Amino acid sequence: MSRIIGIDLGTTNSCVAVLDEKGQPKTLVAADQERTTPSWVGWSPDGTVTVGTRARRQAVTNASATVFGAKRLIGRKVNADDVAWFAKLAPFRIVAAPNGDAWVRVQGQPVSPQEIAAHVLRRLRQVAEEALGEPVTRCVVTVPAYFDDAQRQATREAGQIAGVDVVRILNEPTAAALAYGAHRVTEGRRLIAVFDLGGGTFDISIMSVENGIFEVLATGGDSALGGEDWDRKILERIVDEVFDRYRVDLTGVPMALSRLRDAAENAKKALSAQAEAVIQLPFLANDQHGAPINYERAITRDEIEQLTQELLDRLEAPCVKALADAGLQASEVEEVLLVGGMTRWPAVQRIVERIFARKPSKGANPDEVVALGAAAYAGILSGDADDAALLDVTPHDLGIKVGDSGFSVIIPRNSMLPVRARKLFATTADDQKFVSIELYQGESAELRGNRKLGQVVLDHLPIGPAGTVRVELVITVDVESIMSVTARELRSGKEASVTIRPSGGLSQREIVEIINRRRQEDSILAKLPSEGGTVARVATREQPAAIPSDEEK
Ligand code: AMP
Repeated sequence: MSRIIGIDLGTTNSCVAVLDEKGQPKTLVAADQERTTPSWVGWSPDGTVTVGTRARRQAVTNASATVFGAKRLIGRKVNADDVAWFAKLAPFRIVAAPNGDAWVRVQGQPVSPQEIAAHVLRRLRQVAEEALGEPVTRCVVTVPAYFDDAQRQATREAGQIAGVDVVRILNEPTAAALAYGAHRVTEGRRLIAVFDLGGGTFDISIMSVENGIFEVLATGGDSALGGEDWDRKILERIVDEVFDRYRVDLTGVPMALSRLRDAAENAKKALSAQAEAVIQLPFLANDQHGAPINYERAITRDEIEQLTQELLDRLEAPCVKALADAGLQASEVEEVLLVGGMTRWPAVQRIVERIFARKPSKGANPDEVVALGAAAYAGILSGDADDAALLDVTPHDLGIKVGDSGFSVIIPRNSMLPVRARKLFATTADDQKFVSIELYQGESAELRGNRKLGQVVLDHLPIGPAGTVRVELVITVDVESIMSVTARELRSGKEASVTIRPSGGLSQREIVEIINRRRQEDSILAKLPSEGGTVARVATREQPAAIPSDEEK
């Protein structure tokens, strides 16, 4: 059996790791020495698909066919608030699939986020195969703790399209805690905060670990806050300065803006380790007389800190709320783990220390720690690691509709999988003919705040006064989150049942069509040299599969 790799499929960057011969997780490095791969996918006019750094670079000249942040869309409806927010901001078009899912329109063709994520997964698999010198077919993929079943299943679908078997989906904070060895805590219950500030999103999770069991107690964050906001503040300052000095507005010069954005990010990274850096950008643009502007300026960490104070301030409230949701005081948290490249920024570390009144744990590389944890978990699953960790839990409350709009929880979230629960009902009307049980998932006390999963109807009930006919409901969820629901009338033994598989939005037919299209493309491809994070393939882009309507699924 091939080894199972661990994949952090990130909003901004992705990373792949594996357990080495000594049982230690290690990051797999691409041939060009990149340790993480930007989660960007670009299509050039001739249909060539690029992934990673190359895709990110082509955004300057081909923004509408360069997609980033597909993780914000996967398994989501187009009318969700944060999807609508992202659609307003993104330079590419986000459209509705017939079932209301958020897709992207690239070169006039609708593309599902699953397919976009599959390109990134395929690239990571290629990195792994090149680094290991052996084929890779199985992986563990991490997702945010708040992802619901649809988002998790859509991530599995991305794996299927990429031709890798996603053997488990793992919560990102759990992966981070595993990388820090939190599952080896043998005594008592340990409370951990995982503070994750990446390129585009901020997530805070409060969790407990006891006997190798991880429980996410509360999550929070800000999906519109990340390292890119720091870069933008620096960029805006320089754009203003150039305007004041040369009367040239760089906002209309995409190439200059792109170079400035890279320079701002590089300066920020350098300044997390030193007090001062120099930004040098020769031939940035032309001044009013057509002469080149050779931009150069020193910048200090203090200056960036002042410029970005407002961003820093936004980190506190979600932490306070997550602690309150978990019913904890900050002082009760015993360890704070840093995840995401932006946690290298000293001011971020200072605010974490202030909020939790303790120094955060360092020692793991924050860009890689989630992938390393996924690799550690892959090792546990494949038996390559001695550790035992029981990690599969239901991510949300599962329950049924009661009355007109109430929600009654039957399997609370964080229940260990597999899990089975029973509930006994009695009829509420005389000679009631049938019962209809509707299943929902979510944390809201109100039904409409939760997601409907399915329904089971048991009819031809024996006649009898209200309360005398009794129906037992049994819900079982297996380790793949597949749910079996059975309703049985106790006197006659008559039963009705339904199996609910999590749906990520694509039907099996659509997945097979995408895979076949990809195969066709591959077979007519001349393979381009793979460099700079590219899985470049020349192809004439086929007509995409028609999206079947909901009824066809
Ligand atoms: P991630 O999404 O975890 O890969 O985080 C990416 C973000 O971390 C980007 O905004 C990077 O600019 C930022 N980042 C990476 N390294 C550093 C560093 N040394 N100092 C400050 N920010 C960094």
